[in-house]
This record gives sequence, C-alpha cells and structure tokens, in this order.
Amino acid sequence: MSIRWSDLNLLVAGRRVTLSGHPVALSSQSHAARFLMTQEPGCCPGCAPRDPAGTIEIQARSAIPLLSGSVHLSGVWSAHDGAYRLTDAHLVEPVGWSAITRRRALATGPLMCLAAAVDIGSARAAIQAITAVDFHSHAGGIASLERMRTGRPFSPVAEPMRKGGMAAVCLAVVGDGGTHKVMTDGRLHPFRDPAPGELYALSQLTFARVNDMARTQGMAIITNATALRAARAGTASAIIAAEGGDFLEGRPDRVDEAYAKWSLRHLQLVHYRVNELGDIQTEPAVHGGLTDTGAEVIRRCNKLGIVVDVAHGTFDLVRRAASVTTKPLVLSHTSLTNNPARFTRLITPEQARLIAQTGGVIGIWPPESIFPTMDSFAAGMARMVDAVGVDHVGLGTDMRGLLGPSVFPDYDRLPALADALAGAGFNATDIGKLLGGNYVRVFEASMAA
Ligand SMILES: [Zn+2]
Ligand SMILES: [Zn+2]
Repeated sequence: MSIRWSDLNLLVAGRRVTLSGHPVALSSQSHAARFLMTQEPGCCPGCAPRDPAGTIEIQARSAIPLLSGSVHLSGVWSAHDGAYRLTDAHLVEPVGWSAITRRRALATGPLMCLAAAVDIGSARAAIQAITAVDFHSHAGGIASLERMRTGRPFSPVAEPMRKGGMAAVCLAVVGDGGTHKVMTDGRLHPFRDPAPGELYALSQLTFARVNDMARTQGMAIITNATALRAARAGTASAIIAAEGGDFLEGRPDRVDEAYAKWSLRHLQLVHYRVNELGDIQTEPAVHGGLTDTGAEVIRRCNKLGIVVDVAHGTFDLVRRAASVTTKPLVLSHTSLTNNPARFTRLITPEQARLIAQTGGVIGIWPPESIFPTMDSFAAGMARMVDAVGVDHVGLGTDMRGLLGPSVFPDYDRLPALADALAGAGFNATDIGKLLGGNYVRVFEASMAA
C-alpha cells in the first residue's frame, strides 16, 4: 500500500507500506541501514525537522544510498510515543520516476552506447541552436539590498553567460527587500510592514541599478520578442524582471510606469510577504488567493506585454491567475512534489498542470538540498516533464538567491546540464525546449497584441 505523509497518523502498526521521502545523512556517510527520512529535503546535511510527524526512523535490511535525492521505500510501519518507524525497509522503484526509466531503457537497448554518444554530442549543439534562457536569476548579486544601497560593484554575469552559452537571463530585482529575513525555523519570513512609499522608492533604486549593471557588462536589454529570438550563445542579454509586485503598493498603473521607465518585461506577483496582489506559499493565506488588484495587474501585463510569473503564489492564487490571464503563465522556480508539506515552495502535479493549461512554462530550480548532483537535477526536470509535457518545463536557477548551495552555481555549467539532460534520455530538440525554447515561446505570446 502506497502512503501519503498526510495520512501517516491513520496507519495501523504492523502493516507493510511504501512511501517516498528524503534520507537525512547524519554524518558524511553515503550509505546507511539506519537513518531518518523526511517528507521534504532538509536545508543542509544533518538538518531534520523538529516536528516528529515530519520524520520517520528507518531500519533497512541493508545499507541504502543517502545522497541521491528522494528514495521510495517499502517497510513495516510502527509508531511509539509519537515517533514513527519503518522496519525491514528496502528500496522499491517509484512510479513515474522517468529519468531512471529513460536511462534504463537506453541501457537495455542494443544501441545504448551509440544512442548516448549521439545524444551527448548533440546536447551541446542544442545550446547553440536555440536561445538558452534562465528565467529567474539574481546573478551579479542583485538580490543584495546592501549592494544596491551602497553601490558596491556587481560580480560578472555576462562573461560566464558567454562562456556557458546562456543567451538571456531574467534579472529579478527583489520587490519586498528589507521586510523579510531568515527566522529560527531556518526559513524566510516577513518581520515588519514596509512604510508607505518605501518599497516603491526602493524599486526606483534597484531597477536603475540593474539596468546600469546590464549596460556596464555589455548586455543587451531585451524589450521585444524579435530581440529574444535573435539572442544566441556567445552573446549575453538581460530581461528586466521583478520578484514581488510589492513596489506597486496596490497601484496597477505603476505596471505601466515600470514597463516604460525601466523596461520591465517579467513580473512575479508575490514573494515573501503577503502583498496587495495575493497569497504566498510560505505564510497562512489572507486573501483566498489572487486579489482583485492582482487580477487587474495581470490584465495590465497581458495588455502591455509583460510575462506574468506566479512563483511563490498559493494554489488558489495560481488557479485564479490562470482564469484571468489571456496569455501563458510562468511559474519560474520550483520543483515537483507528490507529498506537499505545509508552507512548501514546491508544487503538486495538479498545480503544475494549471500552468501548462495556459500554455505556460515551469522553471525547475537547482538547490543542492533537493538535487545534489547535475544528474539528479536533470531527473527533476524529467519528473516535471512527465507531469506536464516537454513543452512546459524550463530552467529557473534563482542564481544568488538560494539560501543554500546550488548545483547550478554559474552559467558556465550550462553545457554540463545539457549533457545531464541527454543522459536522462532527452533528444536535442527537447533539450532545446527545456533550456530556453519554451520560455521564448511564452515570452513571444506575452508580447503579442
Ligand atoms: Zn523566489
Ligand atoms: Zn529569487
């Protein structure tokens, strides 16, 4: 019997069950027969949730690999004094774990070596043939409020892009900077309300600085679909973006201003505070999803030609956004979960399908806590492809924005990701879609009248 984490308290002791989770390596061991398993990956090795309902003690028949992301286990269930335990546990093949099955299909075929060689050879060529795009980035260090305020120089963005073949990146200024911080649970939460006018004034500084950074580093600023389609490996272009529409302060007309004054072409509605536009995944819901102001902002973006990004939004926000928008939606940085924890930043297949149904694209992000290797990151993209199709998945690195280490720390890693996608069984056409083609399509649709 396959079990969801939310149903653990209903289980009868002595039953054999199957369950997916993330093993917690308590030291640097790569394999162990006794370890803890959590519903979602911890933020760092050795980090287990304090809530015992989010942790299971595993006693396995033999040592199990701990460092390869999630595992799917069969074992005998028991619970003692509120602590959960799975004994006589062993690994089983999870349903729909496509990257493994793809690779296994390759491995069983007589042309395995030839197929792999052709795929990997053409994987890097795919980067040259398309416009590779990272559609969520704070590269250069643009998420740092201190850097924005002091005028400290930005680190190189264009140079690693040219080296790796990344043609364009969405450079996102942070809309709610200075109002959230890491709290005792190790996660970001808002800790104060901004003063009236504060976040608007901040946006005037951050938009100006990010425009300056792009120009100083010789990056073209993309303002229309023709320019994005023309961007290629070896050049470096920027799409001006914002993470959180907090700077609007509830005034949809400021979308028009940011479009004209700062070349804003990609707007993520919400971030780490519940703003005037809607609810967020990481705090209790206040508005029941997208607000009327949020709906008006989407209509303005649709009319002007600004990509609408619903990352960080609740399921209810995404659902109403999908019903309001006349253009495809983007959800720029997340990954798939079948067992969503409370306040998770990950999304379910159901939420992912809402994006796909608008013709949109979901960006998979690369925290090492979720994807410890480039191969597991490619497998994470493959899992989302299985949920929504190859036309609706892309890359959102959240570069310089993640709390922990990233398996994709800079753009010179792009060829390695292309290789890993080939290793996961994708052909050159599909690699081209995943690494930029799908976003280019959505951008073009968003710019169309
Ligand atoms: Zn984010
Ligand atoms: Zn971010």
